[in-house]
Amino acid sequence: MEKIRYFDHAATTATKEEVLKEMLPYFSINYGNASSIYSIGRKSKKAIEEAREKVAKAINANNKEIYFTACGSESDNLAIKGVAYANKEKGNHIITTKIEHPAVLNTCKTLEKQGFKVTYLNVNKDGLISLDELTDSITDKTILISIMYANNEIGTLQPIKEIGAIAKAHNIYFHTDAVQAVGNVKIDVKEQNIDMLSMSAHKFYGPKGVGALYVKNGINFERIQDGGHQEKNKRAGTENVAGIVGIGKAIELSYANFEEYNKKLTMLRDYYISQVEQKIPNVQLNGHRTMRLPGNANISFKSIEGDALLLNLDSKGICASAGSACTSGSLNPSHVLIAIGLPHEIAQGSLRVTFGEENTKEDVDYLVENLVELVDNLRKK
Ligand SMILES: *Cc1c(COP(=O)(O)O)cnc(C)c1O
Repeated sequence: MEKIRYFDHAATTATKEEVLKEMLPYFSINYGNASSIYSIGRKSKKAIEEAREKVAKAINANNKEIYFTACGSESDNLAIKGVAYANKEKGNHIITTKIEHPAVLNTCKTLEKQGFKVTYLNVNKDGLISLDELTDSITDKTILISIMYANNEIGTLQPIKEIGAIAKAHNIYFHTDAVQAVGNVKIDVKEQNIDMLSMSAHKFYGPKGVGALYVKNGINFERIQDGGHQEKNKRAGTENVAGIVGIGKAIELSYANFEEYNKKLTMLRDYYISQVEQKIPNVQLNGHRTMRLPGNANISFKSIEGDALLLNLDSKGICASAGSACTSGSLNPSHVLIAIGLPHEIAQGSLRVTFGEENTKEDVDYLVENLVELVDNLRKK
């Protein structure tokens, strides 16, 4: 087996050794239930509160504003349904975008079936929403604006602070799915007018199965899962102590090393894009050229079937991702690529490469070398 070269950090990341090391005791010696009053229970409780502080500090929130969940998807569900159900007397209108992750889109679809009205904002060819369209779509029934911080496919970063300011001026709550952003961009919920923010540990070198939701103090939202009184009565279920310790350590490490990490990813991304643009004809970058995640490069290769490209790359030990979903049997290109206006045949040939920690410039050379050859071969067929 060849060495694996992993360029799919937007899908998930490996848990860092240091994170795993901090988690391990909470599976074994410190296994106490955080609601129990004896010493190993109190130790669990203390570990949870320390992790809460780390998460809060990373985004400039207060400890009491952080709720732990089981994943990014759950955080999105809790934020959106939580606000919708608690504020339905005030209004039934929600504004989101056409390019959200399914965790937001499908939550909105469910709410539509329950009588809520949802506006799905358009994006331009770079994947950016229009602030004017946002303002124009607000009605006196609007209770929530949910717009993702960074897109998981094309990497485009939205003008979060400006969106937050519009929400604030209209007295509407603003939630952002920041699952791709946390660890990759600096976040300050106070400065950026963010009321609610979702994150997931496995996207920033923490474990899978643990997420967090920031909810600004005073926001009216309801629990969506019934049971015990954990997480200030907003999220029932015995706490995943090891996972929570993991998300705390992972977010702390991400921001301790932020500048260097950000610089490295930006360098790899820009080097990759320029190499592909120089060496392969008929390609186009998807998403905004500069307002994008440091590690994201989504490029369409004309006359190429993305999945064929992926399979060929896999045989060279390269992990990446395509924008089309024909693995599921359908040849439907991604809703994001369609929303930025790509014709189906261009969307089919898109390849998402997302860089991370362990990637080097030499890895990029290997990737580009193989792409030059594979794209050429596939185009000849
Ligand atoms: C990965 C992802 C999610 C879902 O997070 P999970 O922890 O896998 O549930 C939600 N939104 C975005 C933008 C993502 O990239």
